Amino acid sequence: MMKLNQLTINEARQGLDKKEFTSLELTQACLKAAKEINPKVKALLQITDDLAMQQAKKADQEIKKGQVGLFTGLPIVLKDNMLLKNTITTGGSKILENYKATYNATVVDKLNNAGVIFIGKANLDEFAMGSSTENSAFDKTRNPWDLDRVPGGSSGGSAAAVAADMCIAALGSDTASSIRQPASFCGIVGLKPTYGRVSRYGLIAMTSSLDQIGPLTKNTEDTLSLFNLIQGQDKKDATTYKTKPVDIKCLMNDIKGVKIGMPKEYFIEGMDAEVREIVKQAIKKLEDLGAEVTEISMPLTKYALAVYQIMATSEIATNLARYDGIRYGLSAKEPTLQKVYGQSKAQGFGNEAKRRIILGTFALSAGYYDQYYVKAQKLRVLIKKEFEQVFKKVDCLVTPTTPSVAFKLGEKYEDPLTMYLSDIYTVPANIGGVCAISIPCGFDQGLPVGLQIIAKPFDEQMLFRVANNYEQATDWHKQKPEI
Ligand code: GLN
Repeated sequence: MMKLNQLTINEARQGLDKKEFTSLELTQACLKAAKEINPKVKALLQITDDLAMQQAKKADQEIKKGQVGLFTGLPIVLKDNMLLKNTITTGGSKILENYKATYNATVVDKLNNAGVIFIGKANLDEFAMGSSTENSAFDKTRNPWDLDRVPGGSSGGSAAAVAADMCIAALGSDTASSIRQPASFCGIVGLKPTYGRVSRYGLIAMTSSLDQIGPLTKNTEDTLSLFNLIQGQDKKDATTYKTKPVDIKCLMNDIKGVKIGMPKEYFIEGMDAEVREIVKQAIKKLEDLGAEVTEISMPLTKYALAVYQIMATSEIATNLARYDGIRYGLSAKEPTLQKVYGQSKAQGFGNEAKRRIILGTFALSAGYYDQYYVKAQKLRVLIKKEFEQVFKKVDCLVTPTTPSVAFKLGEKYEDPLTMYLSDIYTVPANIGGVCAISIPCGFDQGLPVGLQIIAKPFDEQMLFRVANNYEQATDWHKQKPEI
């Protein structure tokens, strides 16, 4: 018997509409699960019970009046780098430990207008920098499939909350991997939308030219629904485009004749052999379902991570300059302004933030700017063009999401370079500005493996179509961890 907190978006909607349960009951089931499981998994930094109960009562009134949309009364979790007015929003950093948001992010406004219930704020690597959620200043989130392992990062809290059924769905943000890699590690679906398709107004900036907000959910249809709710132009974010929601009917189309490219650079030596085998079987399945799979080559893939390191650290150094002890958050008590700046940063930022500020400042400094930053920008254009070229020949690409399954806590923490390598298959999609999804495609030693599908900009419907066909033919996404 399914518990209410285990439901998908559609199942919850049907149950609410048929009056099998109320939003209050659904919300209480999620809050109960969150309170029981969170002490072990540490997915949520904050459980917003009061707000949730208040919103649930309001949703039930609306449901009674028959004024419902797909999301009315559904409990959702937000990554704690999205502003929810009057609620502490930490960005995973000590520097914002007591920072109360003064306005709503655009995605939060959209969820609010749709009648969503906010259950809590999810843990993350400090300012979304990391691949394990171990860089959080507050808690180390655990993987619901194995509490000794990381949930991935930086949206590890959001992914673990969905995998552990503390909520119906969650939002995360993805700059290099941060939705897809934790989705893969936790056995759920995660989407990085096309750059410019979802507003980042009210998202704490990390690498502004790459950051995107996206859904983490229990299946592809839910990802499509949540994506449709948050996407579209926002006059408060000048990088957004005028786009329409994806027609849900795309899920009904089969994939006969869909041209899928398998880039050989994503199946390299050094990746986990089991993961490669499982992903290859998943690709075989897509072939059985009628897709035409061909091996292709994307030789610039090998530069993506290096380009990312330069671009990301440069933008991070710039974006984090605003935390100076004067404008936001922690302010060191010091006699001079210089010392307030210095000490606020010294006390407020964790090691990864400091490392990246130093690297980014170096990459942008006079004398090195041309060698590093400008060169990275040139390569970025070439990588984008390489995607454009392949998408003239194929409809989408399939790859592993990560080179291995979830690793142990502490395993890579002291070794940032190895940690950075976890992003190797996900970062090209951010650099190229394209869209990509990760879906569950099997298990290695009891741990989930993710299949990544990549499509051209604004072609999310292709991702949903291929992912849904795979899901209908398998039941990996239905597996639940025992906690
Ligand atoms: N692993 C990436 C990093 O450390 C994650 C960034 C992201 O997607 N937010 O930079």
